Amino acid sequence: MSFLEYAPAPESTAVLNLKDSYGLFIDGEFVDGSGTPFNTISPATEKHIAEIASASDEDVDRAVAAARRAYEKTWSKMSGRDRGKYLFRIARLVQERARELAVAESLDNGKPIKESRDVDVPLVASWFFYYAGWADKLDHAGLGANPRALGVAGQIIPWNFPLLMLAWKIAPALAAGNTVVLKPAETTPLTALIFAEILQQADLPAGVVNIVTGAGSTGSTLVRHPDVDKIAFTGSTGVGRDIARAVAGTNKKLTLELGGKAANIVFDDAPIDQAVEGIVNGIFFNQGHVCCAGSRLLVQESIHDEVVDRLKTRLSTLRLGDPLDKNTDIGAINSAAQLARIRELSDIGEAEGAERWTADCAIPEQGFWFAPTIFTGVEASHRIARDEVFGPVLSVLTFRTPAEAIAKANNTPYGLSAGIWSDKGSRILAVADRLRAGVIWANTFNRFDPSSPFGGYKESGFGREGGRQGLTAYLKGAAA
Ligand code: NAD
Repeated sequence: MSFLEYAPAPESTAVLNLKDSYGLFIDGEFVDGSGTPFNTISPATEKHIAEIASASDEDVDRAVAAARRAYEKTWSKMSGRDRGKYLFRIARLVQERARELAVAESLDNGKPIKESRDVDVPLVASWFFYYAGWADKLDHAGLGANPRALGVAGQIIPWNFPLLMLAWKIAPALAAGNTVVLKPAETTPLTALIFAEILQQADLPAGVVNIVTGAGSTGSTLVRHPDVDKIAFTGSTGVGRDIARAVAGTNKKLTLELGGKAANIVFDDAPIDQAVEGIVNGIFFNQGHVCCAGSRLLVQESIHDEVVDRLKTRLSTLRLGDPLDKNTDIGAINSAAQLARIRELSDIGEAEGAERWTADCAIPEQGFWFAPTIFTGVEASHRIARDEVFGPVLSVLTFRTPAEAIAKANNTPYGLSAGIWSDKGSRILAVADRLRAGVIWANTFNRFDPSSPFGGYKESGFGREGGRQGLTAYLKGAAA
């Protein structure tokens, strides 16, 4: 049911200046790849956007060699102050080209333009500004006297926040004095390649950042390359495990940012309207393709019916459709494979006995879509309570006492994030203290800031990105 009809308000793609095909970005230039090229498509229309080069083992080798040369000849010789100037320049260019980057991100990823425009791209700029400020202050970061860069960092990122994950990786690595070879996800390479143009515009010395596109095998080659000093990976727990095995016994430093199954805990004294907004933001932001999504709602039994009713009413007002339309709340699922996984887990949820409710919205004929869905009557043993769906699917569980809420919240192999909604500050602090999660939000959800460290416990990985702590992953001998 739709209460309001909105006229279409599509953001223009005229701001884009896309090429028909993109090469690899190695040693400051776009070069041909020797693997078989692949296409990147819009998940909202399934239409071709551009042809993308695929990096073979030799191409990865070339990129690592370029990064090593740049590290030895230029970047490690440069003062922190000068490195900082490059980072400031990149941040300003991201701001200048913000609209173009937002449109490209929504086109390639399927996320609503209001999110890429108001969340992803501004955060990308803020990450570069923040770490630009650290580049000449490493001696004062409390990380030991004369902290030293590691050398060449290999970085592998997922498709859910393509440009933001690139910023989380590249900004601290460069600020700490490392050079980089980065591999974007195969379904979302576009903004990384536009970012490479920004690096040319910023006159960043050749080889300091290299971008190799390709599938998982390209990432695997990068992980195993003997001349890489550090691997930073964001992606699934399964691939994270494989990488940990490959790196074990080498001198490579490793950070892993993996999956999650966060509990969003709502106590009966919480401001319900705000909590409902927070629940929606927690799981339906970016179609639920968020590692720290509040995918398990733990609601106190006495307010369960009221919260679920209000949630359904609110979800009925969300608009699903064209990611480039400024009124869109729910965009496209990033790929056919991800859609199949969401459908499979949702069907299992139903088969296991949970009650499924789906918002009544029209699904476009082309593209990959999944309407916002809630499961009630979920039990801790259900797959939808345990597995990461990575889609717009919320599992609702109940609790009676704070102790039960804590036990249920911690009953997961993951430990990335959590949310607590209560009017009582003392209760929030007491519960937060006992939750095994790297990031805990109180009376809000999915807030990010470059000065705030982010990372997980248990199968959500190790190491922290963001803040002063984020520098330690890129410095020799530094401990947070
Ligand atoms: P994925 O693990 O399949 O892929 C991530 C990246 O790794 C891609 O670039 C992919 O090409 C590459 N890759 C695949 N196989 C590889 C291998 N064997 N060796 C090296 N690289 C390989 O994950 P995905 O489906 O793209 O992303 C979704 C996952 O990422 C979710 O589980 C989500 O929770 C997680 N994620 C975590 C965070 C975090 O900060 N903790 C942030 C975003 C996403």
